[in-house]
Amino acid sequence: MPIQVLPKHVADLIAAGEVVERPASVVKELCENALDAGATAVTVEIRSGGVEYIRVTDNGGGISRDDVRTAFLTHATSKVATADDLESILTLGFRGEALPSIAAVARVQVLSRRAQDELGLCYVIEAGEELSLDDAGCPPGTTIIVRDLFFNTPARAKFLKTDMGEGNLVGAVVEKLALARPEVAITFIRQGKQSFATPGDGNAASAVRAVLGKPFAESLIEARDSNNGVEITGFVCKPEAARANRSQQYFFLNGRWVRNGTLSAGLEQAYRGSIMTGRYPACVLYITMPPQLVDVNVHPAKTEVRFANEKAMFSAVYAAAKYALGADDSAQLTVNHVPLPVMNMSQPVVGADANPPAHKMPLSNSYTLPPHAPEKPRADLHPPLQVHEDELPALLTKPSISSILNDEFRIASCVEMFGTYFLAQVGDELLLIDKHAAHERMLYEQLKAQAGEMKRQVLLSPLPLNLGREEVAVLLAHGELLMQAGFLIEPFGEDAAVLRECPMLLCGHDLHTQAAEMAGYLLAARQDLTTEALDWIFHSAACRAAVKANDPTTQVEREHFVQQLLAMPNIRHCPHGRPVMVTMTRREIEKMFMRV
Ligand code: ADP
Ligand code: MG
Repeated sequence: MPIQVLPKHVADLIAAGEVVERPASVVKELCENALDAGATAVTVEIRSGGVEYIRVTDNGGGISRDDVRTAFLTHATSKVATADDLESILTLGFRGEALPSIAAVARVQVLSRRAQDELGLCYVIEAGEELSLDDAGCPPGTTIIVRDLFFNTPARAKFLKTDMGEGNLVGAVVEKLALARPEVAITFIRQGKQSFATPGDGNAASAVRAVLGKPFAESLIEARDSNNGVEITGFVCKPEAARANRSQQYFFLNGRWVRNGTLSAGLEQAYRGSIMTGRYPACVLYITMPPQLVDVNVHPAKTEVRFANEKAMFSAVYAAAKYALGADDSAQLTVNHVPLPVMNMSQPVVGADANPPAHKMPLSNSYTLPPHAPEKPRADLHPPLQVHEDELPALLTKPSISSILNDEFRIASCVEMFGTYFLAQVGDELLLIDKHAAHERMLYEQLKAQAGEMKRQVLLSPLPLNLGREEVAVLLAHGELLMQAGFLIEPFGEDAAVLRECPMLLCGHDLHTQAAEMAGYLLAARQDLTTEALDWIFHSAACRAAVKANDPTTQVEREHFVQQLLAMPNIRHCPHGRPVMVTMTRREIEKMFMRV
């Protein structure tokens, strides 16, 4: 295929689709350029989540007047001739295409001066069209301002989240960059307010303190390990500062933030027995190793990596964390009856055969409890199947249970099987009921019927939410929505929040995890989500409050439950669409045994 230049607007839009997905990707590209230019100070400012305004200022080498057009206008390719070829090129990625791609879908202004030049430049380019190139007086370095992202591609703008959500994603990008490069002073300004500023003194601890806050920094202990060319430095949290999710596990590999299941697993293994189930250690760990032992091309954004030797990486992180937690294994590695949460990661996770092998952990008869006793079994606090008739919304109690319970619905017997199912003889039918699915659906209907006027419980002592800054912010920003779902969350000091009230139904359940899950959902959600979000919250709350496999039930509870279930003929599937029960008639059974 001959080399040809694509029509510029086509080329730019293609590349933009790849490089510029949202404000966070613009910020990432601009910051990486700034660092590539040798900057020791970078300031990122955004307004309206970065959709309206992004500014990245650096004190790096600058761009010369001769080069500025080239930086924005480079589209020669031998790879694309027809539209049909586009599919394949999209998979290759577009190196060196960041600036033209950004300029294709926004209004861009560049101010730049090299230290050796007397005059700087001001270059303006919008939707790929150069508007002006003038001399300008400016300090050495480069400022790039990106306004009105996707103003000329409204279809793309529709896929953006709320300004809040986009701003959080930008924040996450700048945070990770600031943590990855403590030797660069990085400032992040959001909506006119400085969010954080690192000193750029090369000290990881000061970057962590500046970015993640003082309380977080104070919960950390120094970790390190060095073995076979793999060097780890940084910090892990004290066991009592473990979080509700993995969002505060930061791994940097050869200067880049990465996500990897094996690294998390090694970290979590080191805490085994010292934190309770459902909690995750936090960390900021810097790993350096020979690049040839890492495959960074798993993910186009280079955030997912694969190691030549997964087991060695697991062990290295494990050892670094163990170093921090105190090398005395007998004190830390105690057998705990609370199982580690199941890892849901695509990477293979090296487990029991890692160093030291799990079977070598002290296995005494006297189990040592973790510093925090596991939560009491839920059933102690909240008998799972006691759904009182007066708690049911009017909608569901009509016609009243007793009136429809004629002989046809008489429950002759109801037993529990495999800790999971109820087997009931009702009238002429045999019912096999998934107790969790059925209860979950029942609670979901209750919650839905109460939306907006949820029966709430005021917590005796407000529950401090041990969550990240973004999670706290998103919960507070959706106060009204959460109130409709029965959650009252209020700010508490700077960057923190407490839960004051919860839906009655959730009393005694793990409210902290519930809050963390809601934050996670809201952060990932798109604009205009009220109905969808409420529904999601009802699902997750119902699932949390519903009886679980192996929760004990009594005969009376089971019968009461089956009666209630039968009184709600619309409940035949759980909120996720799985069936709640299967039935078999007496006649079908008789047929099976060839009695008829
Ligand atoms: P790439 O970074 O892959 O080369 P970009 O489109 O991101 O491609 O940038 C194009 C070029 O513009 C860079 O190679 C660099 O020469 C120049 N450039 C971009 N941003 C800056 C900056 N902040 N300071 C100095 N030069 C820059
Ligand atoms: Mg670049």
